[in-house]
Amino acid sequence: MSDTSLSGVAVSPGRASGPVVRVAEPLGEPASTPAPADPAAEAARIAPAAQVVAARLEALAATATGEAATILITTAAMAADPALVSKAEQLVGTGRLPAAKAVYDAAGGFAEALAAAGGYLAERVRDVQDVRDRLVAELLGVDPPGVPELTAPSVLVARDLAPADTAGLDPAKVLALVTEEGGPTSHTAILARSLGIPAVVAVRGLLALDVKALAVDGDTGLVEPADPDAPAVAAVASGPAEWDGHGRTADGHRVKVLGNVGSVTDASAAAEAGAEGVGLFRTEFCYLDAPTEPTVSDQRAAYAAVLAPFHGKPVIVRTLDAGADKPLAFLDQEDEPNPALGVRGLRVAFDRPEILDRQLAAIAGAATDSGAEVSVMAPMVATAAEAAWFAERAAAAGVPRAGVMIEVPAAALAADQILEVVDFVSIGTNDLAQYTFAADRQLGAVAKLNDPWQPALLRLVERVGAAAKATGKPAGVCGEAAADPLLALVLTGLGLTSLSMNAAAVRAVGASLAGVGMAQCEAAAQAALAATDPAAARVAAKAAITA
Ligand code: PEP
Ligand code: MG
Repeated sequence: MSDTSLSGVAVSPGRASGPVVRVAEPLGEPASTPAPADPAAEAARIAPAAQVVAARLEALAATATGEAATILITTAAMAADPALVSKAEQLVGTGRLPAAKAVYDAAGGFAEALAAAGGYLAERVRDVQDVRDRLVAELLGVDPPGVPELTAPSVLVARDLAPADTAGLDPAKVLALVTEEGGPTSHTAILARSLGIPAVVAVRGLLALDVKALAVDGDTGLVEPADPDAPAVAAVASGPAEWDGHGRTADGHRVKVLGNVGSVTDASAAAEAGAEGVGLFRTEFCYLDAPTEPTVSDQRAAYAAVLAPFHGKPVIVRTLDAGADKPLAFLDQEDEPNPALGVRGLRVAFDRPEILDRQLAAIAGAATDSGAEVSVMAPMVATAAEAAWFAERAAAAGVPRAGVMIEVPAAALAADQILEVVDFVSIGTNDLAQYTFAADRQLGAVAKLNDPWQPALLRLVERVGAAAKATGKPAGVCGEAAADPLLALVLTGLGLTSLSMNAAAVRAVGASLAGVGMAQCEAAAQAALAATDPAAARVAAKAAITA
């Protein structure tokens, strides 16, 4: 390791080296003066500019495929969002602001609301900022920030990359991707994996490194200066994943490959990617802005719409996971000193079971309407008694199968007792890591502790897998860990029976499973468990697979 080498969180495997190309920083805040002489004419510039930006993104989407296309279409829709345009037009009038500054402020309001919502919504802040910068650049008549046209294969270095930028990357030109910010659950990480580009995120000190070439190791997270005169080295191309849509290892061991969804768009993307069902429907995503509790019939219709593509297929609907990073306005929860450790997930229902009962009634109705094979699952369960309490209420509501998430270390340790009282469990590795390592999952500074390859996390997963085997009941993983094609093999080797993930990862994980036998998965699992850090666990698992 050279003394200028840096390290971050490895999020997409493979090694590459070559010349550095830096991604331009976002534009600064535009000036609020001069006040427009004709506010109506100034405001009228915004809608056409939004149309131009949206059209450019749509054109990019037309040349992309799969999840990349979906993300570009979503970002294009955000650019043309009438709410954003009209808020900006209003600010030109009321605030006497130039159009560029008005757009900047209007988008700022949207981004703040998303950041306050926390969790996955907070990760969408980058998307809004990307749209904002493209619009501001259009209104100012300058080049948009983002990835420059690459003339030769290069290593991209950025503070963070917008999903629209990442989705448009050409794997033939981008040798590797390195960012100073970002976490393992960001879109950048997910897309880099799906494009087969080695990537390392949360590399502290990266932007201050003044070098012409870099060597990047997407397996260990190591980023080192390289000889600028040496020829570029590309990672071995893995090619687009081929998968027959039936989750199993090469020797026929069955592992369901499922989708994580939170909206109708996610559900169709998951179905299109070939997901065999839904392993996690985050129902709270439907109501993050709801000022009052949605009625049973509204909930029933919303859930049925999301489940529609999965008629006749297994789906797991998670009851509201509110609190901490995902507050729901209508629950009007009290401020707490440590919200992640407070009344969140199922705990909200202990004081107000009627809200849970109304949701369960809506889910039972949506099961009938959609024809999907619905199970329900409770988030943030800590004990077998809590799990039993939930299962009883689900049965009373007429939902045939009930399970709980394993996200709290206590629940992983008591998985055998929990499985006695529910039909299945599903491990939320995002929260299980956060609580095991006492490391806030939203904080870049502790991102390394939240690496799903942490051997201590895998030891808890092992315990859950063993409990599933002993009781003969299913245990899945629906945290980001399941989206990593190599880690998916380790999880299979640990005894998990289903893996649920973002649509972008479905094919790669299905193909990865199909390429190995169960004995290899078990060997990879044992190798990862014996490692002392995430990078070593990854390397050891890979070596066990290829041995
Ligand atoms: C998890 O914690 O891993 C999980 C899947 O739930 P969420 O990310 O919604 O908290
Ligand atoms: Mg969770």
